[in-house]
Amino acid sequence: PRPDLDLAALVRTIPDFPKPGIQFRDITTLIADAAGFAESVRRMSARAAVYRPDLIVAVEARGFLFGAAMATAMGLGLVPVRKAGKLPGVTIGVDYELEYGVDRLELHEGAVVVGHRVVLIDDLLATGGTILATARLMKQVGAEVAAALFVIDLPDLGGSQRLADAGIACETLIA
Ligand code: 5GP
Repeated sequence: PRPDLDLAALVRTIPDFPKPGIQFRDITTLIADAAGFAESVRRMSARAAVYRPDLIVAVEARGFLFGAAMATAMGLGLVPVRKAGKLPGVTIGVDYELEYGVDRLELHEGAVVVGHRVVLIDDLLATGGTILATARLMKQVGAEVAAALFVIDLPDLGGSQRLADAGIACETLIA
């Protein structure tokens, strides 16, 4: 464990990606750093363990990187939530609003079921649209969302407030 390690210093900000005016937080530099990746997974896992989940649900695509490592560290299974058309089996889907247009997230039928207590994992919380859509999927199948965990929060974009309003516990490593 490296409680002193400054994870924020390992995240890079790329201006004007994917569009002019957006400051993109790039976690590839964090996960390329062995100590940084290990420490971020350790801290995320420690926070997640408090909620006693029985499954990790990770959101495409960067959520997979952290969720997969957490699942093995915590001795839990991993269920991916993916963009439309990527999962090969029978799926359950949810549409959600983007700034321009709509997108769709899907889950394999039977992967999460009634009574499962899950934590939702993504790399970054911005408006909260992605994770709230994922939470709706969980509700559709009767699972309990114990918490949503992120490496990075962009509080100015309102996601943490929206999660609080929806009654979803939220944890982030870097604000
Ligand atoms: P939200 O749905 O909360 O508005 O946006 C969060 C989703 O978009 C996450 O899946 C996240 O991976 C992605 N995202 C949005 N902005 C950024 C960013 O600046 N950096 C990274 N790494 N992901 C972002």
